Amino acid sequence: MTNSPPTPDYPALLKRIAVASGPAADQGQVADYIPALARVPADRFGMALQTLSGSLHRQGDADEPFSIQSISKIFTLTLAMGLVGEDLWRRVGREPSGNPFNSLVQLEREHGIPRNPFINAGALNVADLLVSRLDRPAAALRELVSELCGESVHIDAEVAASERAASDRNAALAHFMKSFGNLDNDVDDVLDFYVQHCALALSCAQLARATAYLAHDGLCPRTGRRILDPRQARRLNAIMLTCGTYDAAGDFAFEVGLPCKSGVGGGIVAVAPGQLTAAVWSPALGPSGNSVAGQQALERLVAETGLSVF
Ligand code: GLN
Repeated sequence: MTNSPPTPDYPALLKRIAVASGPAADQGQVADYIPALARVPADRFGMALQTLSGSLHRQGDADEPFSIQSISKIFTLTLAMGLVGEDLWRRVGREPSGNPFNSLVQLEREHGIPRNPFINAGALNVADLLVSRLDRPAAALRELVSELCGESVHIDAEVAASERAASDRNAALAHFMKSFGNLDNDVDDVLDFYVQHCALALSCAQLARATAYLAHDGLCPRTGRRILDPRQARRLNAIMLTCGTYDAAGDFAFEVGLPCKSGVGGGIVAVAPGQLTAAVWSPALGPSGNSVAGQQALERLVAETGLSVF
């Protein structure tokens, strides 16, 4: 009989991570192309771990809601996988882009088919699918995320309006796809929904709970409800690993070795299948739009625990 390894002392580990990684406010820049995000203080640092055995560990500003931005693309993709099935992959690929998340050039070369569902073009395409299939897509998404984390979450209307007023680049991406016949709805309707889902506000503790189904073969551990089938959950994790942190995805796979998804609000979620989910938040971003302290914190987490999918 083999003994399973002892459970790490997660509270002590989180404290060490916070001391070592801190907010790294001087090593990055808070996103300012969405005006409402530019006002968020750079010195915040929060982290939460949700284990599949049911413990939630918090550190620092782990209960302060922040704008999850592109992390919301996990949830829109989850809804689309359930509603659309395999046809989804005719409209959007699953290859890393190797380009900034809001780049236009690749889309022209590749005839309006976005590389993956996590770059902005791909997420706009997924948003279009949900606008077609759901009467009130933003409400459906909010309900799903509230159910997953067991608390009512909200969409920050000020952040959504602020991004909507500065949507020229995303509008260009959407119009481009429409010109190739790869977008069904009015660009304005798609953008309205897109900025709303990006403006979902969750704390690290809520985010770690809300993504636990990805560590549990698609089953929500809190309610026992199936959110994705196991194959879909594996695929979503694979896309997070290869595309979830944009053109830094290779570096994340190398340094962290877990499926991750970042957002320009400074959040990052990491999934250790069968074990736990980690959510970290610190608003100062590096050149690829990923939280600097967040990446350092995840690197330290895996260095000290040996968590990795490899
Ligand atoms: N709402 C943001 C945008 O469209 C999301 C980008 C991100 O978080 N990487 O630019």
